[in-house]
Amino acid sequence: MGRLNKSSFPSPELSFQYRERPRSGNEINGLGEAVVRRAVPIFHGSGARKLEWQHLETFFALINPWRVYWLNIVNRWMLRNADGPIAERQEINADPRAMSTEIKQTGCSLGAGKIGITKLSEHALYEGKTPDYKNAIVILYPMDPDEMAHITQPRAGLETMRAYNEISRVTIALAAHIRDKGWRARAYCEAADLLHIPLAIDAGLGQLGKHGSLICAEFGSSMRIATILTDLPMEEDQPLDLGVEDLCAGCRRCTIDCPVDAISDEKQLVRGIEKWYVDFDRCAPYFTATVGCGICIEVCPWTIPGRGPSLSAQLLKKRDKKDLRNMETVRSAD
Ligand code: SF4
Ligand code: SF4
Repeated sequence: MGRLNKSSFPSPELSFQYRERPRSGNEINGLGEAVVRRAVPIFHGSGARKLEWQHLETFFALINPWRVYWLNIVNRWMLRNADGPIAERQEINADPRAMSTEIKQTGCSLGAGKIGITKLSEHALYEGKTPDYKNAIVILYPMDPDEMAHITQPRAGLETMRAYNEISRVTIALAAHIRDKGWRARAYCEAADLLHIPLAIDAGLGQLGKHGSLICAEFGSSMRIATILTDLPMEEDQPLDLGVEDLCAGCRRCTIDCPVDAISDEKQLVRGIEKWYVDFDRCAPYFTATVGCGICIEVCPWTIPGRGPSLSAQLLKKRDKKDLRNMETVRSAD
């Protein structure tokens, strides 16, 4: 991709080391487990409960540059308004599609990059969490590609935190807008709140990449994700196919470039589902030592600004041609 200077990637030897290593994060995540169950938060907690890898989280907080640390405090302060009072008069719109459109337009005018709507599903909930809402509004906020090209340097960390602040601002404001209509709505802007990626996939915003992150056509994987849970009736979006699977099947860019070999070329069984999985025990210490790593995201072809839509069109066209050839082969064999 030519945007990164690989020689500047910090050495894997820099990784944080535990004197007494906690239980494997892969085991906590349910790697190799055949039974479907909810996930358990390990890292990037909300402070609500003690994480098994809490020391790594604390170390991460302590080594952040003070400007990132400050933005993190600002974010926590904003999140006190994640929920709030609900208007007494409930606005009823008989047309759920019109309501979806209005919510998306309002969110985008507040600064969201893209918005999708889906039902709140079981696979997005952490163990022990039972938010009592019907619908999920998933919000994407893109990060600045010029800043993220400095990944593993503090400049990229600062941009990541700026994007966190922005998505919190947008999500909190949109949730307040829904409460003004007389419907319950709560903003969830942290990783430990919900599993945002499965919701984003259900809401038609993108697909899971081999590097374990969401890939969307517009921003690749260079974005933040937040969610509003609400009872507001809206039309749901449907999952989409960008051709991500087709490219990941042959591409090894993130696998090769990950300094600690955390990305596998094979899908793995995780809590009863075959999927792309990043080795937590390898990734998390390096991610922490580099204050956010993200090399796998930055090197991914989908993250090249403006590339996603044409890449998707090319991949789907190639697949159609292949399907046609296969059908012709079957017909000629009959
Ligand atoms: S963030 Fe990506 S590139 Fe960095 S260590 Fe984790 S998997 Fe590897
Ligand atoms: S770098 Fe390649 S293999 Fe990795 S997620 Fe992106 S497209 Fe898939």
